[in-house]
Amino acid sequence: MKGKKIMTVLAWALCLAAGVQAQQTEVIAHRGYWKTEGSAQNSLTALVKADGIGCYGSEFDVWLTADDRLVVNHDTKFKGVTPEEATERVCTSVVLDNGEQLPTLKQYLQIGKALKTKLVLEFKVSKLSEERQTLGVEKIVALVKEMGLEERTEYIAFSLHATKEFIRLAPKGTPVYYLNGDLSPQALKEIGAAGPDYHHSVFKKNPTWIKQCHDLGMKVNAWTVNDAETMQWLIREQADFITTNEPELLQQVISEEKKK
Ligand code: MG
Repeated sequence: MKGKKIMTVLAWALCLAAGVQAQQTEVIAHRGYWKTEGSAQNSLTALVKADGIGCYGSEFDVWLTADDRLVVNHDTKFKGVTPEEATERVCTSVVLDNGEQLPTLKQYLQIGKALKTKLVLEFKVSKLSEERQTLGVEKIVALVKEMGLEERTEYIAFSLHATKEFIRLAPKGTPVYYLNGDLSPQALKEIGAAGPDYHHSVFKKNPTWIKQCHDLGMKVNAWTVNDAETMQWLIREQADFITTNEPELLQQVISEEKKK
């Protein structure tokens, strides 16, 4: 009887371990959920809509303006305005395609606070010196703390300097992913990153990297995956996150893969 009980406990533990290993791929909406009625890339609406369809996370892009403020937009130059060279007032006077004003980071976080989705914050750097990148990271981390969103915010950057500064300045354990695709799993581990957030082609070229990352205790995110075939491949390879412009398609592919 006792032996049977031990076997049951063991079987249960094995199931649990298998469950942990085969954790489901999570959906991150790229620049929010913007390919839908009334939305636009990096708009407040896109963030609300990503949350509304139950995305794990919603990605957005942040610039440090010429007057040391933080605004949300993707492009180096958007509708004639270059955020790194313009003031916050000029940046926020730009109207997005859905009619909203271009938001400040504070406005974005205020909206995010009422939601559940993770805030996947990319710091954009075009011509910023390393000193100004550090200033940007300091300001971002301080604002996220002030807004009480440290637990729900993850950081990503193409700049290795900015990535290292997020790792240095954000609370210990905050996920920080590097975007640029040029560091091996081992190198990412050494700088203290949570893992790679790389273009999906990097994982195709380096088919052992996803497993290597997992073996090193890191997680894997792939961008920007908009077709079902690549989504399926990454789900089968057990990528932890997929960043996509098609979050509803990805949700559908994940649920179909689960049935197989
Ligand atoms: Mg981005």
